[in-house]
Amino acid sequence: MPARTGEEYLQGLRTEPREIWMCGERVEDVTTHPGLANGARAIASLYDMQCDPKYRDAMTFVSPRTGNRLGMSFIVPRTREELEARRTMMLNWARTTCGMMGRSPDFMNVTFAAWNAAADYFGRGRPEFADNMRRYYDTISENDLVLTHSLINLQRSRHVSGMFNLQEGTALQVVKESSAGLVVRGARVLATLGPLADEIAVYSPRLAQHTDQHSPFALNFALPCGTPGLRFLCRDTFDYGRSHFDHPLGSRFEEMDAIVFFDDVLVPWDRVFIYGDVGLLNGTAAVTHSSAHTSHQGAAKNLAKCELVLGVALLVTETLGSSHLPHSDERIGELIMYTELMKACMRAAEADAQLDEWGVMCPAPLPAETTRNLFMTAYPRMVEILQLLGSSSLMILPTKADFRTPLAGQIEQYLQTDTATARDRVKLFHLAWDIACSSFGSRQVLYERFFASDPLTRARALASIYPKKEAMDRVLDFLARDDTTP
Ligand SMILES: Cc1cc2nc3c(=O)[nH]c(=O)nc-3n(C[C@H](O)[C@H](O)[C@H](O)COP(=O)(O)OP(=O)(O)OC[C@H]3O[C@@H](n4cnc5c(N)ncnc54)[C@H](O)[C@@H]3O)c2cc1C
Repeated sequence: MPARTGEEYLQGLRTEPREIWMCGERVEDVTTHPGLANGARAIASLYDMQCDPKYRDAMTFVSPRTGNRLGMSFIVPRTREELEARRTMMLNWARTTCGMMGRSPDFMNVTFAAWNAAADYFGRGRPEFADNMRRYYDTISENDLVLTHSLINLQRSRHVSGMFNLQEGTALQVVKESSAGLVVRGARVLATLGPLADEIAVYSPRLAQHTDQHSPFALNFALPCGTPGLRFLCRDTFDYGRSHFDHPLGSRFEEMDAIVFFDDVLVPWDRVFIYGDVGLLNGTAAVTHSSAHTSHQGAAKNLAKCELVLGVALLVTETLGSSHLPHSDERIGELIMYTELMKACMRAAEADAQLDEWGVMCPAPLPAETTRNLFMTAYPRMVEILQLLGSSSLMILPTKADFRTPLAGQIEQYLQTDTATARDRVKLFHLAWDIACSSFGSRQVLYERFFASDPLTRARALASIYPKKEAMDRVLDFLARDDTTP
């Protein structure tokens, strides 16, 4: 089946029953639920884009296996041109959502494309797992399925790091093995996009060794979201059912986060990719290079976000008449720097891309991963800059309805500025507020701080691939220069 349309995606969500809970109620249909429907529509618009004749060539590629046109993020890039084509596609999607849907389907698609190419890695212990991976990639790419993922175990305490914190009864583990598959029990966080996905992938970026290297916690598998025993518990929605004027981002891009409970869920053997092998689990992201590929996707999302915040900041200063002030220049200059750094890292990751041992054109890991680490602190700072530039105007926010009251005349008169009508000012500042002040905006900051793991883990991840010896040798060479001073 070729790349899906938005309606085909929504139809898939309607016809696959799943157990989703929110605010004390079971959600019967995510495509009509007031807290989720707009997010589903946003994802659907991404799928429509890939079927639009204007974008078709940029958004899809021809499957070498079936001849079907598949979503471009499923491509296994073999050349630099294909890597760049994939970035163009990801950037098109990211710009559509202003970078506000970090878990758009391309995130998981590039992961499984990398794993498919490196399928033999998964077969190192048990050859059948390599075949499982290849078959699964074929299934999701040919059916254009949407995946969520949950990597982190809920932790009952933080006395030890998450990597070792595997309490029985909380962390997800295998409780039974049978000829049908594995039975798993436990709780995972945080399945962003969970209620809007067709499938859930479960793996782990970090796990301590266990006896004989085998662990019932070492797992990599995928399941349909409607699998019996699987329950998604959503946070409250940040889509308050307001107009796009009042709530421009939250009313469009609520991607939702959910806890996932696994209540003795059967994982059929053909959906298992790693079981028990801690070494394989720990090495997955680095050896298959899936981490570099997801960073590449993240860089596109970051760039779209930078472009949005920079554009809003420029309009804010123009609207308020503060663009001539030195402090505005300083703050805008900082936003330009983040935007250009993001572009530069993305371009460097592509320019220095190399074929890896799996024959995949892999983005250069260092510049790609740098985009993740940089954004953990850059994005909160970008939001802070919007607050500093916007000040009380971020609270001068009459709603669309206020413009239809007897106060409309006063609003139009007093809220206009030298450069903007009251309506244009208020519309712009609703957007700035939704980036910098709303609950939707706060969640974006939290997302950028943590979605790719905690800051210490990220710092260690970057340090682990940095050629430290080069840096030290340069200093040692300097220290070894002849001392010609008396
Ligand atoms: C909005 C959002 C969306 C997300 N989406 C997804 C998703 O789609 N899929 C997914 O799998 N995950 C997702 N995550 C979860 C993300 O992977 C985790 O938040 C991240 O790995 C950090 O884990 P944690 O939240 O348990 O934080 P913790 O591990 O508790 O860390 C919290 C803070 O405490 C510090 N800390 C932790 N342990 C110690 C210790 N022993 N000593 C000292 N300091 C310590 C950390 O450095 C950090 O600053 C998402 C997170 C957020 C916020």
